[in-house]
Amino acid sequence: MPNMDPKKNPMPVQEPDVRNKNFNEVALGYTYEVAVNEAQRCLNCKNRPCVEGCPVSIQIPDFIACVAKEDMEGAFEVLNSSTSLPAVCGRVCPQETQCEQRCVRGIKGEPVGIGRLERFVADWHRENNTKKPVVPKQNGHKVAIIGAGPSGLTAAGDLAKLGYKVTVYEALHVAGGVLSYGIPEFRLPKDIVNKEVQNLIDIGVDIETNMVMGKVLTIDELFEMGNEAIFVGSGAGLPRFMNIPGESLNGVYSANEFLTRINLMKAYLPNSKTPIQHAKKTVVVGGGNVAMDAARSAMRLGSDEVYIVYRRGMEELPARNEEIEHAEEEGIIFKTLHNPVEILGDENGNVCGIRCIKMELGEPDESGRRRPIEIPGSEFEIECDSVIMAIGTSPNPLISSTTPGLDTNKRGCLITQDDSGLTTREGVYAGGDAVTGAATVILAMGAGKSAAAAIDEYIKNKS
Ligand code: SF4
Ligand code: SF4
Repeated sequence: MPNMDPKKNPMPVQEPDVRNKNFNEVALGYTYEVAVNEAQRCLNCKNRPCVEGCPVSIQIPDFIACVAKEDMEGAFEVLNSSTSLPAVCGRVCPQETQCEQRCVRGIKGEPVGIGRLERFVADWHRENNTKKPVVPKQNGHKVAIIGAGPSGLTAAGDLAKLGYKVTVYEALHVAGGVLSYGIPEFRLPKDIVNKEVQNLIDIGVDIETNMVMGKVLTIDELFEMGNEAIFVGSGAGLPRFMNIPGESLNGVYSANEFLTRINLMKAYLPNSKTPIQHAKKTVVVGGGNVAMDAARSAMRLGSDEVYIVYRRGMEELPARNEEIEHAEEEGIIFKTLHNPVEILGDENGNVCGIRCIKMELGEPDESGRRRPIEIPGSEFEIECDSVIMAIGTSPNPLISSTTPGLDTNKRGCLITQDDSGLTTREGVYAGGDAVTGAATVILAMGAGKSAAAAIDEYIKNKS
């Protein structure tokens, strides 16, 4: 008999007033017993609606059935056949709008905790597995991947498992892309990212770091080196600003820079060579997951007050509900229906405040969301000594500008011809934020997976 409890087993977490002062992971993970109990809530539905909600097609009922009968290694093998990054997905995937949204247990109660179970299985495997990885037999074909973020690593894993000799070229000194430089330690510990990257190296994927493609090597040169296809998963690392007065003052950061300095350069440590300002009052502009990450990081760095300033209402915040709730619990102050018009500076060129205007919501715009409209005469100031802009990013033009025949749209995103990720240049595929602009980790992974299958078809048909 399945466990018919209408509620998911809750995720144990660090207490808010403890965790807002440290960078340790907030969610602590299910215990073995709780994972088995949660798995027993799954009805093993014949039509498998949850699988349709997963961009990397994890065979969800099969892995959960293994957990329910305490075959954790079997569960890992099911996960591993569809994803190379299960511990990452189980932590940062927006399950509530993906697999769990389709779960039939969600009709009369809460869905099965699919993401929490995925995380449990990946963590169990990491801590208990003693088997050596099996290196797939090589098929004699070479593929290059640009970018070691979620889409690039997924494409690399799938192609390596098919026998391709895969080399991943990464611009930074570590692999992981946004998983390493963007998402903070308290949501996604870097040890976990490193281990999942190591799993790929162990099956033969070669990762070359400090390789800024378009400068060190071009796509044409990669073809000349014997690669038969190329996947571009170079992400969207170019921060956007609002173009309001005061954005060049000391103490104004892009969220990208702020989070990279914290995550990769440990700039918060007292002996850091690239120290980051420890602000007393921080204002973060934006309402997505990156804004929540920046605000919660600023709080952990010792800000007494941290504000989120967002031009639409609480209902319209694009961040995951869980991240918004965690931010509220940790003391972040939400100033929704507010928009900055100027960042204010003191006589030394340092930030001393931000002037905002109140907004109201009008008719829906082309995105379907209600358009924010300024309320005349409602301007006011928030005193602060740091402002972090988290209003989105665009792809870096380095690769498109050095590759003849690789077309981009007016937002600088690579144009693809279909779901396979084929670009306007033969043999060059692309996916993730380089194509869509900033989106989620799991959508980037789904794009990497589709492109790997298309590259395999392309090379097989050509040979
Ligand atoms: Fe669900 Fe994401 Fe895991 Fe797929 S990868 S099963 S969508 S949590
Ligand atoms: Fe299990 Fe829910 Fe998927 Fe049904 S829809 S198989 S209950 S996870």
